[in-house]
Amino acid sequence: MKTKTIRSAFVTQFPAVFEQGVLYISEEFETAGHLCCCGCGEKVITPLNPAKWRLRKEGDTVSLSPSIGNWNYACKSHYFIIKNQVVEAGQFDDRRIAAVQRRDKRDMEHYVARSNAKAVHSPAKAPVPPVKPVLEKSLVCEVMEFLKKWLRN
Ligand SMILES: [Zn+2]
Repeated sequence: MKTKTIRSAFVTQFPAVFEQGVLYISEEFETAGHLCCCGCGEKVITPLNPAKWRLRKEGDTVSLSPSIGNWNYACKSHYFIIKNQVVEAGQFDDRRIAAVQRRDKRDMEHYVARSNAKAVHSPAKAPVPPVKPVLEKSLVCEVMEFLKKWLRN
């Protein structure tokens, strides 16, 4: 972990270039951002809302919870920010990531299988788009529009 201590910088908008070891916090936009603490240079953006991350201020220090897991980045680093200290958490090793991906794939396959099963059970009930009535309806609409315009004039 390259960054062991992070300092907070309260800003309205994030700067174009982040400085390593700075946690930019925009309370206005409820977002924090920093360069990945491993030193890989990736920007890590953490929305600050109850569903995402919570920022806790204690004196001059800040804490972010839950942990920050950068498994979408090559480094796959995982750490906590507790009172400005970067605390390394357990790495998301390939086996664990693979397990999550396998589960996602299985869920997707189940979903597709269920959808297909439904389609097989009721092949004849698929609604045939009523082409002619739609045309007639639109023609009626046009006539109505024409009449409305005609009546207004
Ligand atoms: Zn990194």
